[in-house]
Amino acid sequence: MKLLEGKNVIITGASRGIGRGIAQVFGQHGANVAFTYSSSEAPALELEKELTNLGVKAKAYKSNAASFSESEELVAKVLEDFDGIDVLINNAGITKDNLLMRMGEEDFDKVIEINLKSVFNMTKAVQRTLLKQRKGSIINMSSVVGVKGNAGQTNYAASKAGMIGFTKSVALELGSRNIRCNAIAPGFIETEMTDKLDEKTVQGWRDAIPLKRGGSPEDVANACLYLASDLSSYVTGQVINVDGGMLT
Ligand code: NAP
Repeated sequence: MKLLEGKNVIITGASRGIGRGIAQVFGQHGANVAFTYSSSEAPALELEKELTNLGVKAKAYKSNAASFSESEELVAKVLEDFDGIDVLINNAGITKDNLLMRMGEEDFDKVIEINLKSVFNMTKAVQRTLLKQRKGSIINMSSVVGVKGNAGQTNYAASKAGMIGFTKSVALELGSRNIRCNAIAPGFIETEMTDKLDEKTVQGWRDAIPLKRGGSPEDVANACLYLASDLSSYVTGQVINVDGGMLT
């Protein structure tokens, strides 16, 4: 059964990793996918082709999610190219880890801008469209680190915790218009973001996971599929952990 037949979806940061996995699963479920990237043009165009071959509409857009004006321009372009917007997935994110003692202002600001301000930018940009149609699902990619904190990631943890507060507030503001907003808190998911970690840290994460393995982009994509589809039509303001039991 295809759960997203004919739905139009915007995903930020889908050239790689979790975003790419979401785009692939959504395409397989019949969604038309508009997605962004920051610099990885070749993989983005390859994904566009892969999705188009599935028989859905797909388009890659180079757009900096941290920029308010670029986000507005992006949504305007998507509305020209696609027949409306049903789902927004705020997935784009970066890390710039360091102990607080060594963290510079620039690395704090950059992570907040790309991970958190982007969510404001994109949600604002789609809000009018979703309000008009009185239907929509917004999914924000937070992290277990936003729930429990992590040494060496004050900037990242603050951005991801901020996303949870934003998610719950949007759910309260827009619920009466049938617009749902939820967050996903992935644990340790094996992508280029986690490839940067040293083996000792990675082993530490794996040891702490009851299911004793890292997750895949598809594991996260399946939770997004639930939140994007009508299967979750009575679910809003929630944070779903996709973490192999890490926070249990
Ligand atoms: P990733 O492999 O590093 O991919 C990041 C994606 O975001 C890429 O497509 C990248 O585009 C895009 N991006 C970066 N900066 C951007 C910007 N300013 N504007 C638009 N797009 C931008 O990361 P990932 O592991 O898939 O993570 C995806 C999301 O899940 C992030 O929000 C991350 O914090 C969250 N998360 C990940 C994990 C994990 O274990 N991997 C755990 C919890 C939460 P380019 O390819 O063009 O650079």
